[in-house]
Amino acid sequence: MQLHYIANASVPSVSDKTLPVIDPSDGKAYDEIQRGNAEDVDKAVRAARRCLDSVWSKLSGAERGRLLMRLSQKIGEHADELAAIEQRDCGKPTKQAKADALALARYFEFYAGACDKLHGETLPYQEGYTVLTWREPHGVTGHVIPWNYPMQIFGRSVGGALAAGNVCVVKPSEDACLSVLRVAQLAAEVGMPAGAINIVTGYGHEVGDALARHPGIDHISFTGSPTVGTLIQQAAAIRHCPVTLELGGKSPQIVFADADLDAALPVIINAIVQNAGQTCSAGSRLLVEESIYEKLLDRLGGAFENLRVGPAAMDLDVGPLIRQSQQQRVWDFLSDAQHANIPMVAQGQVVDDAPQTGFYQAPTLLRDVPVTHRLAQEEVFGPVLASMSFRDENHAVELANATHFGLVAGIWTQDGGRQLRMARRVKSGQVFVNNYGAGGGVELPFGGVKSSGYGREKGFEALYGFTTLKTVAIKHG
Ligand code: NAP
Ligand code: MG
Repeated sequence: MQLHYIANASVPSVSDKTLPVIDPSDGKAYDEIQRGNAEDVDKAVRAARRCLDSVWSKLSGAERGRLLMRLSQKIGEHADELAAIEQRDCGKPTKQAKADALALARYFEFYAGACDKLHGETLPYQEGYTVLTWREPHGVTGHVIPWNYPMQIFGRSVGGALAAGNVCVVKPSEDACLSVLRVAQLAAEVGMPAGAINIVTGYGHEVGDALARHPGIDHISFTGSPTVGTLIQQAAAIRHCPVTLELGGKSPQIVFADADLDAALPVIINAIVQNAGQTCSAGSRLLVEESIYEKLLDRLGGAFENLRVGPAAMDLDVGPLIRQSQQQRVWDFLSDAQHANIPMVAQGQVVDDAPQTGFYQAPTLLRDVPVTHRLAQEEVFGPVLASMSFRDENHAVELANATHFGLVAGIWTQDGGRQLRMARRVKSGQVFVNNYGAGGGVELPFGGVKSSGYGREKGFEALYGFTTLKTVAIKHG
């Protein structure tokens, strides 16, 4: 049985209710988490505020940095344990779960180093004045984290917030709480003061909503669906609480005829099957110059047929989806494709010994997807790649920008001028040329435009979002 983690102690919910923890590989419950409520959130926010006022705000940047570095090292020592927890909870193949644990350690390492390097400026002004700016933490930050990359998103969000001098109340997804609860314990073991990291588990509409509405929360960082992003914004707007929103995407991979296909193909495949397609930056649209469309689909189709799907512990190309409703969501998209006569080029295979009760979905490659169809517009959040062809550069830009999203784009061409023209014209928060995702790069600011959200996490840039700027003008004559 898992408890909330508040002020460095495991505590039950005042609700006296629990929720099951499901293993997506076999669909069976194997543990329980607390079904928290607004009272639990209030306890956590109060604990955070006490910590901020009595301890955290009194530490220097260097002291905060040492704590975060110790936590990074501790996470590294426990990487296998954390990966095993995440693997079972989220259905992640072993390689992915391990990569996530190491990325978590890396986030705390990066932000540990940044703690004492965040500073304001002195500004030139009129004779007789000295004007300076201070970067101050918001105070108590709320973090609503989804189930697709709990450790990584905890690292980028909580790591950045703590580095900037905030204390945190975290609401993980009810589908994936176990790893972050363990990380909070590890933080206490390395000396993190009680109340700096608090975790309250439960439903989004109960705990998440209470967090977004709580008057003691000074900033909210949310990663998840656009629909819930709107709800968070509305709740926060009532008290003018700033929010950072990362709301996913429908990111295009744009392949020109002169691209190095040997280099591009494995990256394009990984970008849609990694984490079973449940990745905000998944490359879920493939735009191909028409002269190589058939050739590319031929090669890609062959590769898709060889992709194997099965239980997380088998460490195949693709694990299960997170839950039955997510599987149903993907089936609904594929059934819509069938009704619209969108041709299926190829599908991978679910291995025979995968339990019938697990939430498996074979990777699927579709072609000639009309740009207005929901398969080309909405986030499936499953291993489904929607392809279409384009005539020329202008047409590629038009298709790339033809969704409400704008998170990431991949451009594949050897032509240097075109690389830069395309990078400028595509509307997205990140652009990758002849690569995709840059291995996650914790140093690289990440976030969207349009309905992909706003604000940036990751990199040094995130620290600006986790602070507010105070201008001090001194008239001294
Ligand atoms: P979601 O509902 O947006 O969940 C994201 C987080 O928000 C979870 O922690 C969730 O908690 C919480 N939440 C839900 N309702 C809330 C509310 N009213 N107030 C505050 N917090 C709330 O996403 P989902 O339903 O799990 O997935 C649906 C779709 O969203 C996916 O198919 C995908 O398209 C998209 N998605 C995107 C990302 C991304 O990385 N950008 C991540 C996840 C999902 P509970 O899970 O405990 O309810
Ligand atoms: Mg689970």
